Amino acid sequence: MGRTPLVVSIAVLALLTACGPPSPPVIAARSHPPSQSPSAAASVAAPVQAGFVDLDEVAPDIVQDIRYHSDHNFVGRPIDGYLQPKCVLTQRAAQALAQAQNSVRGKGFSLKVYDCYRPLRAGEDFKRWAASPGDDAMKAEFYPGLSKASVFADGYVSNGRSAHSRGSTVDLTLVALPVPAQRPFVKGEPLTPCTAPAGQRFPDNSIDMGTGYDCFDSRSHTLDARATAPARQNRLLLRQLMSDAGFRNNPSEWWHYSLNDEPFPQDYFDFPITGAASPPKR
Ligand SMILES: [Zn+2]
Repeated sequence: MGRTPLVVSIAVLALLTACGPPSPPVIAARSHPPSQSPSAAASVAAPVQAGFVDLDEVAPDIVQDIRYHSDHNFVGRPIDGYLQPKCVLTQRAAQALAQAQNSVRGKGFSLKVYDCYRPLRAGEDFKRWAASPGDDAMKAEFYPGLSKASVFADGYVSNGRSAHSRGSTVDLTLVALPVPAQRPFVKGEPLTPCTAPAGQRFPDNSIDMGTGYDCFDSRSHTLDARATAPARQNRLLLRQLMSDAGFRNNPSEWWHYSLNDEPFPQDYFDFPITGAASPPKR
């Protein structure tokens, strides 16, 4: 989707919108980083964007499984803007997440992040995918109960901008310590619905949250009554510790949390995820 502007009212997937509360009117979408000092731009130690950090630098023991840099997501290929498998967040959100990690470690768990800051161009890529006929190779795992057409018809999404593009929203789960090994996803492998019981669906090393990540189904609602008792307890554990760290949950997605006191509540960013050593080209 390149840099086409921002707001096209297309009905996309429930999850695309659901990844964040409804967006306010477009007022400050940035296609490029705001002004950086020449010295900051030139330094290899410079953050990818003023006010942002690599989570690895703040909380290196948080597990990262950046799905949109991989083939294992609802599109089935890496998404525009994810040039490195890194979690980039605003400094404030990263520090709050580090606080949550310190809290949960004492309970025998670690956080594991699936998605953090998301460039606007990734949302544009999602919209392009959603508008293309066919191309539903990952349906059997990520939206087993929906067709692309019905997803459009349901009109869940108004413009495709995600809270993730503000840099203080994160998708995450909990893993037990020590962190269990997780086999890689192999493109083209047989798929199992994300709604299948743990043990049948893809063997993510998450504790059982009742569905897989990015599961386009009402069973992903945090308080869905069909969740097993252990899965519900696990969701509530995540919600409590994230709430204590200053994040709020999107009730439609057990994995989606936004920082209450986010530093850029009106700004949507589009710098690619490259890592600290590779500042984006202007
Ligand atoms: Zn999300």
